[in-house]
Amino acid sequence: MHKKHIATPTRTKEILNQYTFAFKKSLGQNFLVDANILENMIKHAGIDKATGVIEVGPGIGALTEQLAIYADKVVAFEIDQRLLAILQKTLQDYDNVQIMHQDILEANVGEVIRSYFEPDQPVHIVANLPYYITTPILMKLLRAQLPILTLTVMIQKEVAERMAAKPNTKSYGSLTVAMQYYTYAEVMMTVPKSVFMPQPNVDSSVLRLTIRDEPPVHVQNETYFFNLVQACFGQRRKTLRNNLIRSFKETYDKETINELLEIANIDGSRRGESLDIEEFAALANVFYDAGGVR
Ligand code: SAM
Repeated sequence: MHKKHIATPTRTKEILNQYTFAFKKSLGQNFLVDANILENMIKHAGIDKATGVIEVGPGIGALTEQLAIYADKVVAFEIDQRLLAILQKTLQDYDNVQIMHQDILEANVGEVIRSYFEPDQPVHIVANLPYYITTPILMKLLRAQLPILTLTVMIQKEVAERMAAKPNTKSYGSLTVAMQYYTYAEVMMTVPKSVFMPQPNVDSSVLRLTIRDEPPVHVQNETYFFNLVQACFGQRRKTLRNNLIRSFKETYDKETINELLEIANIDGSRRGESLDIEEFAALANVFYDAGGVR
């Protein structure tokens, strides 16, 4: 086994020079160069020798190496062809790692989990995500209803705060509600820019999303629910009533919207950011049941 971790500034530079690798900003390539942070992330993810792990974007293998040490098996999706030969070398001591050369947004992750892990094996997702597509990646993985227990991801600090926010705060929005629908979201730690190479412009956080057995609310139609939530946050300084009137103008007139708010027992002069997920669900179900297509 290699004596030096990949996740140190010296070793990372050595690898990058050896392969004359130039970072692609467009692929969100900021590599972690601090093994302590990675170990903490792995602890928060609850990884042990029984666990299967899916990683998104292994880069030169900094996190993958630690996962290989702590988990039973790791399958990592990397989009950048140039990294494949590098990973083959940097991870050559580990026979429990499988690299998939695929765009995670195109991949059939469910199928990969079924073919690479045991039927009852606990599976977690752990990743230092490419920040330009954090939300699309998380939404795709959550909507796919994968047989996984948690996602522990390094993401932009501000996005992590939005995902784990409470009502009546500046960070609370439709993204918070979407995360809450599928998961329990917790910010586990904040990470300075200095532990990445190259340094990104923003600080980062590790967010842990624990998959719920079932959603906390019953909604008649998920797409309709998410659209309505988005409409309620449309213009944050406007009242709920005004946002709904603007968004549903093709479907319901003002009087109907006032009536529907009353049926849902929600005061239209409130702001979207004051509603919790139960109230959004009640409102969406009343709007949906009234027969309005949006
Ligand atoms: N895991 C490494 C680390 O922690 O040092 C690298 C993390 S870096 C922030 C993000 C990685 O995701 C890069 O290796 C990048 O090439 C890869 N990536 C970007 N877009 C991707 C996509 N759509 N599918 C899979 N990997 C992607």
